[in-house]
Amino acid sequence: MTLAALKSEIAACLLCADRFAATETTHAPRPVVWFDAGARILICGQAPGMRVHRSGIPFDDPSGDRLRDWLGIDRDTFYDRDRVAVLPMAFCFPGYRKGADLPPPPVCAKTWHGRVMAALDRPPLLLLVGGYAQKWHLGAKTAVTQTVAAWRDHAPRAFPLPHPSWRNTAWLKRHPWFEADLLPALRARVQKVLA
Ligand code: SF4
Repeated sequence: MTLAALKSEIAACLLCADRFAATETTHAPRPVVWFDAGARILICGQAPGMRVHRSGIPFDDPSGDRLRDWLGIDRDTFYDRDRVAVLPMAFCFPGYRKGADLPPPPVCAKTWHGRVMAALDRPPLLLLVGGYAQKWHLGAKTAVTQTVAAWRDHAPRAFPLPHPSWRNTAWLKRHPWFEADLLPALRARVQKVLA
């Protein structure tokens, strides 16, 4: 199957229609498909939020602004699919429970993640954002903080990261090594793979 056919198949996926219809937002699946084969950086995140569900553009929100700052790249670079691909653990917004986003439905990664990874040209830099991506790609059994703290075990090919959400602002303050040590190494790696 060609990459274009795989992308079309994902874009038309309705596997979670019943699950999403039963959430507070009763929304329909809207897979946010954002990758091309030759991307240099692969961002493996969790799942789109409501704002991205509406826009269809990944990380088009304050979390994305923080992530771009972490990477040291502007929006034009970030949204150039020849350079940056986004492969979440679920392509659709999972809905809310008590004001927080629901976890990514496991069926999505089970159905699509391996197929997309096989179709990509082995990107030289993987960003593993959050526990679900870290578990899938690294087999991480530790909490996100411990996995991120052990980033040197996986760099320079992969960098485990916390979610760049405002919810993690206190986490960033409690762990100053993230900005002092990890981010400079990450930015240097980003520049190298994009050069
Ligand atoms: S989350 Fe994944 S499996 Fe579920 S409908 Fe969207 S694309 Fe399909």
